[in-house]
Amino acid sequence: MIAVPYILKRSRKRKRTISLQITRQNDVVVSAPYFTPAGEIKSFIEQKYDWIQKSIQKQKDQQVHAAEKKYISGEYFYYLGTPYPLEVFFQQDLPAGLVFWSNRFYLNSANGDAEGEKYFIEWYKNKARDFFSKQVEHLSLRMQLLPRSIRITSAQTRWGSCSPEDNLAFSFRLIMAPPAVIDYVIIHELMHIQEKSHSARFWKLMETAMPEYKLHRSWLKENGHKFIL
Ligand SMILES: [Zn+2]
Repeated sequence: MIAVPYILKRSRKRKRTISLQITRQNDVVVSAPYFTPAGEIKSFIEQKYDWIQKSIQKQKDQQVHAAEKKYISGEYFYYLGTPYPLEVFFQQDLPAGLVFWSNRFYLNSANGDAEGEKYFIEWYKNKARDFFSKQVEHLSLRMQLLPRSIRITSAQTRWGSCSPEDNLAFSFRLIMAPPAVIDYVIIHELMHIQEKSHSARFWKLMETAMPEYKLHRSWLKENGHKFIL
């Protein structure tokens, strides 16, 4: 085990627990009560060693992926779990924008690299609106749990939510995930109509509604970063 460099913040306000945070710059910040002995902090860091390494690696992967999109020909974009290649061209007499045809994305734009993101978000949002309204209706009838409304958001990492008034929201990015994973998020949010918190009861209900839900949940944790444009 190599020593982990970290920033230590001692606080007089903090009462008992030591906590750990990884910043956007991949710095490890440890917050501890003011008089915590150095040895205690050291052993705390050691215990969390694997978690720290994993979190930093995951964040680095995300940053690479997030910075990677160039909206150029040959690049791949996900739709319902499958990556499809993009072809960028420019033809003035055709409408500018993005079309999906015969397993390929076509972007008609004079400067695809600058406008690509805008056109992709627009396209994904339209697809998400269609797909989610149909699939939520289908699953909510099956589960007999009816939401008050559905909204499509641009959330980066929050895939779905259910408000106290049973209004559901889903990130358009989810349309890039495989249909079974989308179903998991929809069933999860619909289940919150019945059980608001992530209680033991909630997960039991989830298991009944979707026995393999854990698989989809961890898939999303591992792969969700691929769906950041
Ligand atoms: Zn939840």
